[in-house]
Amino acid sequence: MSVLAMESVVAAVLGACVGSFLGLAAWRLPRGESLTWPASHCPACGRTLAWRENLPLLGWLWLRGRCRTCSVPIPLRDWLTEGLTAGLWVAVVLLTTPATSGFAGVLRLLAGWLLISGLLLLLLLDLDGFWLPEPLCRWGLIVGLTTTALLAVATGTSPVTPLVHHSLAAALALLGFDLVGMLGTWCLGVPALGGGDGKLAAVLGAWLGGKGVMLALALAVFSGGLFGLLARLGGCLKPRQPFPFGPFLATAGGLVWLTPEPLQRQLLALLLPWLNTVGLALGN
Ligand SMILES: [Zn+2]
Repeated sequence: MSVLAMESVVAAVLGACVGSFLGLAAWRLPRGESLTWPASHCPACGRTLAWRENLPLLGWLWLRGRCRTCSVPIPLRDWLTEGLTAGLWVAVVLLTTPATSGFAGVLRLLAGWLLISGLLLLLLLDLDGFWLPEPLCRWGLIVGLTTTALLAVATGTSPVTPLVHHSLAAALALLGFDLVGMLGTWCLGVPALGGGDGKLAAVLGAWLGGKGVMLALALAVFSGGLFGLLARLGGCLKPRQPFPFGPFLATAGGLVWLTPEPLQRQLLALLLPWLNTVGLALGN
């Protein structure tokens, strides 16, 4: 078995465990419950789950998606979250690490896992209750800038320039979002963007830099706009009915992290030829 294959298996197992925790956090955080206590239990009958019922991916299959005591269905979403996290953790191994080796490679791997997991949690929270918690975004920003500096040091370059570029990208993303939100609210007469969307955009700026965040924003706006249009035409959304934009931002941010640098440039040139010039002028 090659090293990469072994790394992928480890990533899948660890990712499924983290996915299980993300599902639990997405359920408990909006309800103000502790993440550590009590142990995992059925929300309907309160029975504490046995260890094998808690096994990521396998527990749900073993129970056939229902509580053993009260037969209340266990959401399929929990199982999908575990599977998706496992798949994304493997994608981080396969797509972002082969290009870097040594300490920088390990750092990039850990950073990728952390970013993808954090974005997935924000996606679930926003999907459920239009909620992108400020503390999570604040920590996402701090960890993103720290990672940027550490990655530069690990590859033997000065952390100052990337740190300045990524801080600027975060600030501009936040300001840009607030401005677009204000304009939208002014035009539509109702809040056009949630307050958390700009903060999540700032997090993406801190992690991805100017070029990356512009690509992520472009992808999020295109996919979100297309979704809104199709959902409206299909009758799933009423006129002016809001839908969370965080999931589009989080998905786009994760995809950009997984996209190799040269392909990012090509995509940006394709989607936003005029913005690419600004991005190159910013140096990142
Ligand atoms: Zn039960």
